[in-house]
Amino acid sequence: MTFKTRFAPSPTGPLHLGHAYSALLAYRQAKAEGGAFLLRIEDIDQSRSRPQWEAQIYDDLQWLGLDWDTPVMRQSDRTPAYQSALQRLTDMGLTYPCTCRRADIEAAAGAPQEGVPQFGPDGRIYPGTCRDKEQDGTQTDVAIRLNLSKALTQLGELTYTEVGPLHTGTHKINKNNMLSNVGDVILQRKGMGSSYHLSVVVDDADQGITQVTRGADLWEATEIHVVLQKLLGLSTPKYFHHDLIRDENGKRLAKRDDARAIATYRAEGAQPQDIVKMICLEP
Ligand code: GLU
Ligand code: ZN
Repeated sequence: MTFKTRFAPSPTGPLHLGHAYSALLAYRQAKAEGGAFLLRIEDIDQSRSRPQWEAQIYDDLQWLGLDWDTPVMRQSDRTPAYQSALQRLTDMGLTYPCTCRRADIEAAAGAPQEGVPQFGPDGRIYPGTCRDKEQDGTQTDVAIRLNLSKALTQLGELTYTEVGPLHTGTHKINKNNMLSNVGDVILQRKGMGSSYHLSVVVDDADQGITQVTRGADLWEATEIHVVLQKLLGLSTPKYFHHDLIRDENGKRLAKRDDARAIATYRAEGAQPQDIVKMICLEP
């Protein structure tokens, strides 16, 4: 199978050093394997995505010396693919509409208890209030969740392979831990269509990605992705989670940290090799 990896930025702000690291790493892996490097614009959140940021992404990546296979996949063009994946999960009886507001979820979760996690990779762990609601397959203006407990009972052993340096090896998903640490994830957001988790799984499969290279901040979401892949009959790529680029105080570089945008360094006269040096990659 030809090696295929991708860089999947959201056009909600400028690319920073962390993005440059992720993109260059994936690009170099693709070149080293004689494989393909794909780009995907993760613009499902239309309220935060801007064409200007998308244009800046192409410009910055080109400036860094990257090229990619075209056409570029854009999540905003992919609604039918997400809808059919969601329908499939609904047909399996694994989804339910959730009408809870944030405050409802907080109230239902009650006071924090020792040893019981409150937050997982999908935010606050959902207390299950709406779990018995009937799902009408065509509802679009409502949040839809995965009934994780029901989903996991339909699946056998779940494993995936991490090839990155932080958690190298084959990992077996512990279903009980997943139920308490992750819970019923969102598959569709009210008025926004597919969630990040569902989109990323459908897109990686449709792009034929064999290795997902991304930041360690998404390591904990991988279990969710593996479960969705298995439910949808999709193959699980290898995962490579890289360490995050931090500033001198050890703080993770966020996208809103404009001072460190690639565009800012460029405006100050930096050359691509200066960026490569700053993120500690070989020239
Ligand atoms: N769009 C995500 C981000 O901007 C990356 C998703 C992924 O690589 O799975 O961080
Ligand atoms: Zn609910």
